[in-house]
Amino acid sequence: MQLYNKLSAKERAALLEEAGEDRLTLSFYQYAKIGNPELFRNHLFLAWDEMEVLGRIYVAHEGINAQLSVPAANFETFKNFLDGIYFLKDVRLNIAIEHDLKSFLKLKVKVRDKIVADGLNDDTFDVRNKGVHVDAQKFNELLDDPNTVLVDMRNHYESEIGHFKGAITPDVDTFRDSLPIIEEDLKEHKEDKNLVMYCTGGIRCEKASAYYKHKGFKNVFQLEGGIIEYTRQVENLKLENKFLGKNFVFDHRRGERISEDVISNCHQCGKPCDTHVNCANEACHLLFIQCEECAEKMNNCCSDKCQKIAALPYEEQKALRKGKGNSNKIFKKGRSEVLSYKR
Ligand SMILES: [Zn+2]
Ligand SMILES: [Zn+2]
Repeated sequence: MQLYNKLSAKERAALLEEAGEDRLTLSFYQYAKIGNPELFRNHLFLAWDEMEVLGRIYVAHEGINAQLSVPAANFETFKNFLDGIYFLKDVRLNIAIEHDLKSFLKLKVKVRDKIVADGLNDDTFDVRNKGVHVDAQKFNELLDDPNTVLVDMRNHYESEIGHFKGAITPDVDTFRDSLPIIEEDLKEHKEDKNLVMYCTGGIRCEKASAYYKHKGFKNVFQLEGGIIEYTRQVENLKLENKFLGKNFVFDHRRGERISEDVISNCHQCGKPCDTHVNCANEACHLLFIQCEECAEKMNNCCSDKCQKIAALPYEEQKALRKGKGNSNKIFKKGRSEVLSYKR
């Protein structure tokens, strides 16, 4: 029985290129009680490997969180498989707008302590007591209400390139950090304001909304399916789009453009730009925003120092890295003193 990937990412990319088949990029999550996550993980891997599903999936005692790509031809089979698992029957699938053949190159199903790294102790409050789920139309109506406070539950590098008009975008590295900040800011308004929140696919708001209700907020709303589902509904139902810029996504694309607005700046020269890159120095790998001119001038690096290192022969770079380890926290960082224009 094969429970792990046989192909390298490179071999997989070549195969996908060759096959040229249509794939759908999608995500879903569900909080559920899973008794034996290891067993469940193996069950998923075997079935999905067969269906040529690729992606990154987290399984925990508290549920499942999946981002994946499915061959369009196998979508029916995939959907039937999900419907055969009682807590995944009719689970909402967020289907990405851009269908990129290579959004994922491996199938990775991992058992974790939690499906979202939120650092919240579940025992302190009831996750099931969550906010009111609203669709795109109701969400737009709430945004027009002067009594609404809109909060972006994502991290600084996500909201930087795109967010809803008028949203509070906490300058935080993790979702957990924004909870007490927002609570403090709004403590006078627990009863009289609408606290409306959103995130990428809705999962972070599941817990955040329960947290705020637990803290005494009376009118808590969350955007169902997050920005991904909002965009889909806006397109299908021809609603007004209140999202500016790009939706940051956690695959190699980095961002999906939702509106033509470019709301951020190149971190090196300051001109309007919303393209995330990773520093070409493997030992740095800093996530930052870089325009094409700066990319050329800096050889895709974040600093002169990294540019010098990246120019060394590979073996010398490796020798330099020895003992230091790769920072390997590309999504946590996105901050550095070398970036003059990081807000
Ligand atoms: Zn620039
Ligand atoms: Zn660098």
